[in-house]
Amino acid sequence: MEYPFLAKQDKMIHDALLGEERREAEGLELIPSENYVSRPVLEALGSVFTNKYSEGYPGKRYYGGQTYTDVVETLAIERAKELFRCSYVNVQPLSGAPANIGTYFALLEPGDTVLGMDLTHGGHLTHGHPVTAITKIFNFVRYKMKEVETGEIDYDEMLKVAKKEKPKLILAGFSAYSRELDYEKFVAIGREVGALVMADIAHIAGLIAGGVAKNPFEAGFDLMTTTTHKTLRGPRGGMIMVREDEEIAKKIDKTIFPGLQGGPHMNNIAAKAVAFGEALQPSFKVYAEQILKNAKAMERVLEERGVRMIGGGTSNHLILADVFGSLNIGGAEAEAVLDEVGITVNKNVIADDIRKPMNPSGIRFGTPAMTTRGFTEEDSARVAHLMIDAMEHKDDAIKKKEIHTEIQTLAKHHPIPETFV
Ligand SMILES: *Cc1c(COP(=O)(O)O)cnc(C)c1O
Repeated sequence: MEYPFLAKQDKMIHDALLGEERREAEGLELIPSENYVSRPVLEALGSVFTNKYSEGYPGKRYYGGQTYTDVVETLAIERAKELFRCSYVNVQPLSGAPANIGTYFALLEPGDTVLGMDLTHGGHLTHGHPVTAITKIFNFVRYKMKEVETGEIDYDEMLKVAKKEKPKLILAGFSAYSRELDYEKFVAIGREVGALVMADIAHIAGLIAGGVAKNPFEAGFDLMTTTTHKTLRGPRGGMIMVREDEEIAKKIDKTIFPGLQGGPHMNNIAAKAVAFGEALQPSFKVYAEQILKNAKAMERVLEERGVRMIGGGTSNHLILADVFGSLNIGGAEAEAVLDEVGITVNKNVIADDIRKPMNPSGIRFGTPAMTTRGFTEEDSARVAHLMIDAMEHKDDAIKKKEIHTEIQTLAKHHPIPETFV
């Protein structure tokens, strides 16, 4: 892209920007939480809406001059309601973590208990990892998978823990889990112990919006949080959705502003509205379907070549592979070797990992970004083969060079699209 003003005024930032553009175009992005946004989303993000203070909500602001900010925030809300089929949406959370923290403060008192997925079994930092500040205020307890080989959650244990610990909130959601959850069971357990039930759909929002993953609201979940920049393919940001309870929605709005945040980032909200508009198009459904097909194509190759997958495979956009157990390479080393051949993944702990988090047994990768670039199942299978080849030949510089060349060719044949509709 051209940035004539930046080029003239600030060469250092301009050079870094062009470098990042090149890096994204030439490499293969397999981190399952990343994606490429459209040019219309980038245009909204880089717009004059960043100049405006809009504390409050549409129609109820603390500053004047809100004619156009009200238009974009209202559009973002209405489009999100249509996408996720719910009654109330707050599009102001600055990212996924603040959205989750906002719901905790809105719905809980200090000392209250939250039941969420164990972090080493796929849960997210914001679901109560001891390093996060939020654990000083709320008490987090855990459920886990019953069987690592199938990925099934231990719902009996979950009910037992819920009865014992009496959580006020039960969380369904993950960042490193490759199967569908049984949302009806979560709701049943929540109702039995009198807890609200919340889904953090940060990773799978695009799959739900595209109709290829179940919508927790249909099972009766009370609320959902999400990021907008993962499979949903919007700008970096967060969002909170409430199925139907107006009291909960009011508490959420008050907690986000003025409780936790000041002025909303209106350029970002405009970009969210653009991305939601894209996700409402039929082409997004095709995109979501292809994400799953590509993940399945990669799963088949791993299975064929004897690489163990946590959960036994995938039903969504991501795979968590036990590379240490299968290929005798640590997660950190695998990440570095794949980087060398132009493939970006991340090291990841696996369930009950015997190794340390800085060099765990697993790597996590997924198909949302490469699917945006138009990779087919055949391409995806080829990438899976090349990944395993690279890890098997981690000390063979010539082989790695060959693989790198093939990856660069694949990337070149699939330029990042400018628009999606
Ligand atoms: C990514 C993620 C978040 C946090 O989002 P940020 O935008 O990085 O703050 C929260 N929950 C889950 C499940 C996630 O995957």
